Amino acid sequence: MTVRYAIRLAQPGAHLFHVTVTVEAPDPEGQRFVLPAWIPGSYMIREFARHIVRISALSGDRRIGLQKLDKHTWRAEPMDGRELTLAYEVYAWDLSVRAAHLDETHAFFNGASVFLLPVGCREQPCRLDILPPQGRKYAQWRVATGLRRARPTARGAFGTYLAADYDELIDCPVEIGTFQRIEFAALGVPHEIVVTGRVPKLDLKRLGTDLQRMAETQIRLFEPRRQTAPFERYTFLTLAVGEGYGGLEHRNSTALICRRDDLPYVGMKDATSAYRTFLGLASHEYFHAWNVKRIRPAAFVPYDLERENYTKLLWVFEGFTAYYDDLLLARAGLYSHVQYLDALAKTLTTVTQRSSRLKQSTAESSFDAWIKYYRQDENAPNSVVSYYQKGSLIAAAIDLTLRERTGGRRSLDDVMRLLWRRFKNSGASYPGVAETELPGAIKEATGIDLGRLVRGWSEGTRDTDFAALLAPFGISVERGFALEEPHFALLGATTRRDGADCRIVSVFDGGPAQAAGLSGGDVIVALGGLRVRSSNFDGLLTRYAAGDTVEVVAFRRDELLQTGITLATKPPPKFTLRVDSKANKVAQRLRRGWLGA
Ligand SMILES: [Zn+2]
Repeated sequence: MTVRYAIRLAQPGAHLFHVTVTVEAPDPEGQRFVLPAWIPGSYMIREFARHIVRISALSGDRRIGLQKLDKHTWRAEPMDGRELTLAYEVYAWDLSVRAAHLDETHAFFNGASVFLLPVGCREQPCRLDILPPQGRKYAQWRVATGLRRARPTARGAFGTYLAADYDELIDCPVEIGTFQRIEFAALGVPHEIVVTGRVPKLDLKRLGTDLQRMAETQIRLFEPRRQTAPFERYTFLTLAVGEGYGGLEHRNSTALICRRDDLPYVGMKDATSAYRTFLGLASHEYFHAWNVKRIRPAAFVPYDLERENYTKLLWVFEGFTAYYDDLLLARAGLYSHVQYLDALAKTLTTVTQRSSRLKQSTAESSFDAWIKYYRQDENAPNSVVSYYQKGSLIAAAIDLTLRERTGGRRSLDDVMRLLWRRFKNSGASYPGVAETELPGAIKEATGIDLGRLVRGWSEGTRDTDFAALLAPFGISVERGFALEEPHFALLGATTRRDGADCRIVSVFDGGPAQAAGLSGGDVIVALGGLRVRSSNFDGLLTRYAAGDTVEVVAFRRDELLQTGITLATKPPPKFTLRVDSKANKVAQRLRRGWLGA
């Protein structure tokens, strides 16, 4: 039996969707309905039910009782075998990739935040009517989504869409409005890019060409012989804003948010670093179509949508994806080798600058994502290691080790392909990747036993020697000092502009700011007897030298603090990776096998 949903863009000005869900044969004991507490891909309890404004239950025209059982569960009063409909309003004013947003310029929603699941119906097919807002000003609005269309709904039109089950329904976000759009085929598979938001002189054609190269490189990685994708179509839903960055992966689409400056413009020659950031984001979410949407941790098979799903493997599913996002852009020719090595050096620098890496392993960080990585405060650099960044370094360490030990014949690519085959071959009985499965998979795919090393990297907190790992590839690692940002180099703190004020964001372990008793949130108002503004702080600081002691005045809770601060003599480290032009043939061959010709 089909579960029927309808979503009407009823009141764009009030940011309200009107939603109905109809069950043909409700539970005679009292049908329960539940809204997910989180959205897969974003590991935090978000309690989407808090945005349901009004809700009622109807049997035919008759209103029946509806009781709330817990924060996200309702139960209709017991009734005979007739159809039951729940009608409710959802307030949609979250401009992120994770929830829903509706105004007079566009609509966006993730099913997880708007569609109640009738308990017991998760495997049943779903039908969704997407209904337009009233009014001539919306006449040009079109629909973009990974959902299949029901006849006779035309591509891009309001109308009826289908999902095989609830999980597919909530894994296909929908964007509606007057977006710019381009299509391309990657190895025969249709792809579309949709860009919402005002972007002057957007070079859609270039976006299409570059994402096509990225997509083909990824499809070939997983299916080098058959060159087939795991989806029939793929949709990039992109929202361009002034400031913003983020993405969420789905089985045949992704929702992206970026700065409009990150998108290419007509006349742009070499890719700007902002555009490369966008390509990295798109590449990351696309890689997830294999790694996490299909190859999944066992803890996510199936997702428990009501509570935290604990796994120690996000360093594999996010970290490996973060490793491949840039690497595959290099192999696709969209990053130069130098640009790729700069990105890798930056990751190595960021991880090493934070003492969190000495306190929390990536396995622990994965497990605690729900309460730590996703809920970072001012102390995060000292307490939360990023399973993205350090996970990508572990992926690099595994890949480099496998390539070096096999003379370039085996690599992490073989491991990804093995995991992919295991998913494909097991069909509906796919058990997911067990918590301790990776070392065995590496050995099976490559013949190399990295068990002890992988456990050390993922469960330990020791630094990895990248100079030794990269040397066989003719790449040297130089360790210098991060001097570009004086407040960070000399004070060991990050700051942000707060109007004209200079406000401390985070104070790093062992740095001068911490020794002087400064803290995240403090507003620095004077340095050495001179007024500080966000615009002149670095300029004032650079007049002093490492080791100088200078008076700092700050406000905390509007109370004045005065303290002396001794500027760092040993600023935080910064790594640079360099290709040795005189490296021997073996090293050159290994490097080309890794980064592409
Ligand atoms: Zn990701």
